[in-house]
Amino acid sequence: MDINLARAWVHTIAGAVAEQKDRLTWLDSAIGDADHGTNMHRGFTAASAALDGLVPDTVGAVLIGTGTMLLSFVGGASGPLFGGAFRAVGQTIYTPAATTQELAEALAAGLAEVTQIGAAVPGDKTVVDAWTPALAAFRHRADAGADLAEAALAAADAAEEGMRATAPLQARRGRASYLGTRSIGQLDPGAASTALIFRALADAVTA
Ligand code: ADP
Ligand code: MG
Ligand code: MG
Repeated sequence: MDINLARAWVHTIAGAVAEQKDRLTWLDSAIGDADHGTNMHRGFTAASAALDGLVPDTVGAVLIGTGTMLLSFVGGASGPLFGGAFRAVGQTIYTPAATTQELAEALAAGLAEVTQIGAAVPGDKTVVDAWTPALAAFRHRADAGADLAEAALAAADAAEEGMRATAPLQARRGRASYLGTRSIGQLDPGAASTALIFRALADAVTA
């Protein structure tokens, strides 16, 4: 991943979130407070716009800048989670380009930050349920010597599968956990956003 691809990733996420804003909010209306699409749209619109004024010299600078904007503009539970995650991903890449293996380690740092902040484990019906299988798939391909396109496509597929697997779960973290068993049967909105983020990576890589 080089600086241009990092930029393209953020712009692609912003486009996907804009397109899926109503769906994300609709998912959050079932088990939350119906603001997830609005939150993510506000954050990624700001992050994407901020990139235009930035002349980064590392991949990390792009992603740290994005995370900082998300922290300021997303709000809710997901602001610190995605903001912290992007900052953590960026903080591991101090170079103008990262190898696919280095990006795997960066994505692992992002998940570690989400876990550190939110204390969710797989099965709690959160962002973690999409990010964990996405990272595993990405790493598996990277370790086998696959190129970034193949790793990113595998990660996007795994994230979507992880998102779908949140439906039968009962939420144990975040607002949806207040619903108890009534959270069962709905997709987790944050896992849906995470799937968008990994699909956007694959799309940006293969564009
Ligand atoms: P809020 O719930 O504050 O309105 P959002 O609607 O933007 O915030 O985001 C909700 C999403 O945040 C949930 O669908 C879930 O994926 C994620 N989330 C909430 N709490 C946690 C947590 N502790 N760990 C990981 N993800 C979480
Ligand atoms: Mg919400
Ligand atoms: Mg809210």
